[in-house]
Amino acid sequence: MTERPAAQVLSGPPAAAALLDEASRRAARLPRPPHLALVRVGEDPASVSYVRGKAKKAAEVGLSSHVHALPEATPQAELLALVAALSADPAVDGILVQLPLPAHLDPEPVLRAVDPAKDVDGLHPANTGALWNGHEGLRPCTPAGIMALLAHHGVSVRGQRAVVVGRSALVGRPVAGLLLNADATVTLAHRATPDLGAVTREADVLIVAAGQAHLITPDMVRPGATVVDVGINRVPTGDGRERLTGDVHPDVAQVAGALTPVPGGVGPMTVAQLLMNTVIAAERQHALMPEGPGEHVR
Ligand code: ADP
Repeated sequence: MTERPAAQVLSGPPAAAALLDEASRRAARLPRPPHLALVRVGEDPASVSYVRGKAKKAAEVGLSSHVHALPEATPQAELLALVAALSADPAVDGILVQLPLPAHLDPEPVLRAVDPAKDVDGLHPANTGALWNGHEGLRPCTPAGIMALLAHHGVSVRGQRAVVVGRSALVGRPVAGLLLNADATVTLAHRATPDLGAVTREADVLIVAAGQAHLITPDMVRPGATVVDVGINRVPTGDGRERLTGDVHPDVAQVAGALTPVPGGVGPMTVAQLLMNTVIAAERQHALMPEGPGEHVR
């Protein structure tokens, strides 16, 4: 192990608080509080708790929200009808369908039924296309939250070599698009990438979203690199309990220049960005321009 000082901690809570402050301030300028419709189906405990957390945070920053809780056995047509009604309702600014849906429901048509202008999860193909073409649109929450976290801590990705590990629709692909739009030179690595370490060692900025505990070890990181750990893995502690750990081995702190902790790094950014997206959707719905040119999330 080298004698470098331990990495700067890219802490999530202060960055999330700053984002929530901005959402709150911008929400207050609108003719009415932005309204977020939260749709969940069934009683999956994690989904119930996530949706409750989102509604609570929404209220804290002055947004209005409503939880549409549908029974487990809801038919696809009924869910589609609710999403279509919310899309058509001018009192609704943002729509979030909590995933995963019960196995009998196909999420793709549901995500397509969300008005792209209200798609605060940024998962509608129109928004995915806008992201990849560098056009204005709503951006997925975790990736946009990562960009806000980096910006908050003064990390610029412009002209940097960025490597993303993981190509999921939720994180890897969209964060690669955001990094590209922010003028990074981007490599997208995944399960089939041979010699992953050779690729990750090229990174000035390394984003890891592979869902594999401690996939990234110190030898895979360039000294001084900025490392963002999106992994949330539950590992047994040996005494019958579990703890959360990331996709990045803790010893990477001895090599990296800056590193996000797990928990307390990227995690808090996702909900904050969801509420910011709701404010952005409401601003556009009210045809208010964001405060200045270039302020919208590219
Ligand atoms: P998330 O939605 O949080 O990004 P997923 O589990 O859906 O997480 O993403 C898994 C992604 O990580 C896939 O794109 C996969 O190719 C990548 N991945 C998983 N394991 C490895 C690995 N050992 N090396 C490189 N990439 C990996």
